Amino acid sequence: MKIETTAVHAGDRKKAGASIPVTTPIYTAASYIYEQTETLDRVFGREIPGDSYARYENPTNRALEELISSLECGHTSLACSSGMMALQFALQAALIDRRKKIVAAQALYGATIRLLHSVFEPMGVECAFVDICNLDEVQAALAEHKPGCVLMETISNPLLRVGQMDKIAEMVREAGAALVVDNTFATPRMVRPLTLGAHLVCHSLTKYLAGHGDVLGGSITCDAGHAEILRQLGRTAGPLLGPFESYLAMRGIKTFPLRFERQCANALRVAEWLGKHPKVGNVYFPALASHPDRQTVERLFPPGYYGAMISFEIRDAKREQIFDFLDRLKLIVRATSLGDVHSMMLYPAMSSHRELAPRQRERLGILDNLVRLSVGIEAVEDIVADLDQALG
Ligand SMILES: *Cc1c(COP(=O)(O)O)cnc(C)c1O
Repeated sequence: MKIETTAVHAGDRKKAGASIPVTTPIYTAASYIYEQTETLDRVFGREIPGDSYARYENPTNRALEELISSLECGHTSLACSSGMMALQFALQAALIDRRKKIVAAQALYGATIRLLHSVFEPMGVECAFVDICNLDEVQAALAEHKPGCVLMETISNPLLRVGQMDKIAEMVREAGAALVVDNTFATPRMVRPLTLGAHLVCHSLTKYLAGHGDVLGGSITCDAGHAEILRQLGRTAGPLLGPFESYLAMRGIKTFPLRFERQCANALRVAEWLGKHPKVGNVYFPALASHPDRQTVERLFPPGYYGAMISFEIRDAKREQIFDFLDRLKLIVRATSLGDVHSMMLYPAMSSHRELAPRQRERLGILDNLVRLSVGIEAVEDIVADLDQALG
């Protein structure tokens, strides 16, 4: 089945009493009873499926998890209260019976870098960082650090680099480690990491999947080998997304392939337009001939899909001119987050990468004149017109 169909149908239409609700209701109950106590005993013992307590499972949350598993071609999913919660639990699940060492891509979402430095390292998990687009460097790091887990993003933030995930997965497997992939920027419409050999894949549902800027959530999807430990961790610590948010995320996901197709098509046109604008310096977008990972992009992504994030530099602009440019935007929303129906502009040096020292940002290629655009579903002419007037 194609993803457009899965997105609309998977997870829904579970029997509830005599009838079948067409869409999944919001179940708010914290506990569940059965006519016979023996049944509850067997549910607690996990001999039969069923609900007992909301920290363990919830029917609304479960429908969303089933939907996400279908989209990502995975065995089991855990819908969590945020993308960051999902990343933390995915890493914990990966490391539970492996060496407590992580090799991570050096280009990661800002809060993910913070998660490694301020949560994992203080717990004694050593973290090493590599250029994930350099296979030799990845191989050398695997040999040197012998990590339990490797962490990467399908499309990196904010420079949109694309690592050779299939080859990395092979190397990671050979080294006996687990590959954890943050697939937020690419979505399962572009790539399904588990089918390329990854062990666990995470999303910030807040972004493309839910897509309307009205719900915070995250997800982990794993292969059969990690299903039990993921469930156990979830049942014990309770990171689950609540029933109201699960409902909103599921409602959003039904239209995700449709929205994302439009966002990707819009982004391609906006990137081409930006490339010709005299006030614009480097444009970072996976479709451009100048993109350093062109071959990987062609190999791993479906034709016409390059994502809907664009980063670009404004020539000779300092922080002050960037602020002026942002203040002139009328349509494009100046806010953090991405993947929403509306276009959004963010200044990485001020927000996502604020906590890195200026020199470290520069080393990563995130200059002070770089802005990041998440292209929405609006008419592309209107997005271009807004950029045009704001660039002046
Ligand atoms: C937003 C984001 C996260 C964190 O997700 P939250 O839902 O904000 O917790 C993680 N990774 C990437 C790539 C993101 O864009």
